[in-house]
Amino acid sequence: MKTSYLTNLTCSNCGKSYSAETVQTFCTDCNSPLISNYDLHAARAHLDRDEIKNRQKGMWRWHEILPVCESQNMVSLGEGDTGLLPLPRTGNTLGLSTLFVKDESTNPTGSFKARGLSAAVSKAKELGINKVIIPTAGNAGGAMAAYAARAGMKSLVYMPKDTLCEHDRKPHCRRGSHPGGWTD
Ligand SMILES: [Zn+2]
Repeated sequence: MKTSYLTNLTCSNCGKSYSAETVQTFCTDCNSPLISNYDLHAARAHLDRDEIKNRQKGMWRWHEILPVCESQNMVSLGEGDTGLLPLPRTGNTLGLSTLFVKDESTNPTGSFKARGLSAAVSKAKELGINKVIIPTAGNAGGAMAAYAARAGMKSLVYMPKDTLCEHDRKPHCRRGSHPGGWTD
């Protein structure tokens, strides 16, 4: 069975196709983000829901529909399979008999960003990248730094100057002086 059914990348705007086996950034024609495509027909034919259910807990038990092709490149800190908390009083107010909230705060870096950054850093590792960079208001930057450290990569995290920054108290982080926002 394949580790991943990833097939290629396509531009989210114009549909131009790109290889998923080399480093890509944005569409070279229209500068739009690229999205990952999977052979979901093949995945449906070969995957067994019960077999996945019995795998070790965590996001990577769904590896066939994640973008990493070699299992040794999966960079994990135990993300995923977060709990569902029942909300009976809110459900009652809304007329819903069974209402739950997924508690993503139990991910290893404290937010759902752990999932995306686990996948992103893993794919970067697979493509031979050893330095990663991200703009952030907080959670994504913390997650990327954690996964990059796990992978042995250097990470650079950029935040707006007025962002409340718990990371200032951490001795391995440096704060720069760029005064601008996201568009600068
Ligand atoms: Zn395009």
